Amino acid sequence: MKKEPFVKIDSHAHITSEELYPDVDVIIKRALDAGVSKIVNINTDRLTFDRGLDLQKRYPDQIFNTVATTPHDVEKEGEENFSYFAEAIKKKQVVAVGEVGLDYTYEHSKKDVQKEFLNRYFDLALSVDLPVVIHCRGDDAFSDLFTFPQNIRAVLHCFTGNLIQAQACLERGWYISISGIATFKKSSGLRDVIKELPLNRLLIETDSPYLAPQSKRGQINEPANVCEVAETIAIVKGISLEEVCAVTTQNACDFFNI
Ligand SMILES: [Zn+2]
Repeated sequence: MKKEPFVKIDSHAHITSEELYPDVDVIIKRALDAGVSKIVNINTDRLTFDRGLDLQKRYPDQIFNTVATTPHDVEKEGEENFSYFAEAIKKKQVVAVGEVGLDYTYEHSKKDVQKEFLNRYFDLALSVDLPVVIHCRGDDAFSDLFTFPQNIRAVLHCFTGNLIQAQACLERGWYISISGIATFKKSSGLRDVIKELPLNRLLIETDSPYLAPQSKRGQINEPANVCEVAETIAIVKGISLEEVCAVTTQNACDFFNI
C-alpha cells in the first residue's frame, strides 16, 4: 500500500511565470498528489499577478498570492507598478507583500533605488498589517537590510546567508525559508547553518521554476519538488520527515495567516 505523503506547503513559487503557467493545472495536481496542500505564489509584475488572482479564484484553498516588484526590476518598473500593487495590497488580495529586498550580488537595479522601494513596501506592509517576503543577496545587502525598522513581520526567502545573519533575522522574529539550494552537493556550509536553526522558525520553498533540487538539477522546478527540501532538513537535523513537514506547515499557516 502506498503511504500517504505528509502534508507540506511550498511557501515560495512563481507558478504564474512563463515557464510554469502553460501547464499550471497539471503542476498543481502533481503538487497536491505529493502532499503539497498549499502554494504561496509570488507575483512580480501585472501579468503574473492577474493570472495569480484568477488561479486563487479557481483554487481558493490551495493557491495564495503575494505581489511586489523584485529588487532586480525596481529601477525599470518599480514606479509604474507601485500604485497598482499598493491598491491590491490595501484590498488584501494578497497574503503578503513581496518579494522585495536587496540584491547586491547581481545589482540589476541601483542600490539606492532598491533601498527606496524596500522602504516604501515596508511602510505599505505595516500600514495594512501584512507580512513581507524578503529577498536578500550579498553581505552588504544584509548589513543594509538590518538598518531598516525592525517592527515588520518577515520571512527571509531562499536563505543562503551565514549563521550570524540567520541569527539576526531570528532576533527580529523573522522566519527563514529554505530552498532547493540546501540539497545541492556543494551546499554543506548552508546545511551546517540549517542544523543550528530552530525548526519552529523555518519555512520550506521551491522558488519554482528556478533552483530545482539536486535530484532534478537542470530541470524546470515545480512545487511538488519541495519534498526534497523537507527531506534534506530532516537528514541534516536528524529528525523525522513527518516532523519537518508538520512544523513547517504550521509555521507557513501562522506566518501567512492561511
Ligand atoms: Zn522568488
